[in-house]
Amino acid sequence: MKAQLRALEAEALARIRSAPDLAEVEKARVQYLGRKGALTGSLRDMGRLSAEERPEVGKVANEVKGAIEAALLARETELAGTAETERFTAEALDVTRPGRASTRGGLHPLTLVVREILDIFVRMGFGVAEGPEVEKEYYNFEALNIPAHHPARDMQDTFYVAPGVVLRTHTSPVQVRVMEGQPPPVKIVAPGKVYRCDSDVTHSPMFHQVEGLLVDEGVTFADLKGVLASFLRVYYGPDTRVRFRPSYFPFTEPSAEVDIQCVLCGGRGCRTCGGSGWLEILGSGMVDPAVYGFVGYDSEKVQGFAFGLGVERIAMLKYGVDDIRLFYENDLRFLTHFS
Ligand SMILES: [Zn+2]
Repeated sequence: MKAQLRALEAEALARIRSAPDLAEVEKARVQYLGRKGALTGSLRDMGRLSAEERPEVGKVANEVKGAIEAALLARETELAGTAETERFTAEALDVTRPGRASTRGGLHPLTLVVREILDIFVRMGFGVAEGPEVEKEYYNFEALNIPAHHPARDMQDTFYVAPGVVLRTHTSPVQVRVMEGQPPPVKIVAPGKVYRCDSDVTHSPMFHQVEGLLVDEGVTFADLKGVLASFLRVYYGPDTRVRFRPSYFPFTEPSAEVDIQCVLCGGRGCRTCGGSGWLEILGSGMVDPAVYGFVGYDSEKVQGFAFGLGVERIAMLKYGVDDIRLFYENDLRFLTHFS
């Protein structure tokens, strides 16, 4: 019986000392000292012992009980201390550590270029106008002197949304809408997204244009040249060489494309300018009198000019970007160059 009690003591102490947490300590208490516990069971058996044996076994039983209780208390104290230390460690706050810098966002390079372009024209007295990207075929083509079956429709691969409704292929419909809504004079620039069914390293199915329109009495081609040359010399520098080349657009007559001396090679000829020393930057022309007929202006009284430029092309030349798709991939390594 005494040996049994000592064995029980050894087992209990080992179990308690290795208990990983307070819940396990409590389980051990119930298992050894509880009402149905192992030690309690042994004490109950003492009734069967002889009168001489009883006090001796009783003394050992008390010692075992005391040892287990002491071990429970010791382990509890130890674990509680560890738990508290762990909590303090986890909650510790080192107020001397330096702060973490937050990264600041920046404007997209295309937004920057649009703002720079608009800023120059606004300083010349132009207002800013906007229009819908989903546009009636009428505003995108007919009212701009491009009737159905006109070969110019093939110049622009159009996305049709529904019969008679397109994703605008240029921002020119805004000019028609503005003229419809107000009498001359008109002096606006219209920035926005346009859509064409075209995709490679220099073409994107969605891209940005800025178009301009000036209509008033007595406007001549000299005004067109003066405004556009001024714009280009503010944007690219006062010494920028500018040339006008005859061209064709269905809604202007006469029409001209505008080149600047290559900003990369200074006119000597390079891969970007195809060896010519010139870069095509703008399309422009005097508004075709037929367009005034669609908006109720008197083509005998008013004249005007219109121009348009591709924002991506200007941004690609300005920042030396050779793939238009970089502007739309939202790769932070690319975008952070501009912030
Ligand atoms: Zn060049």
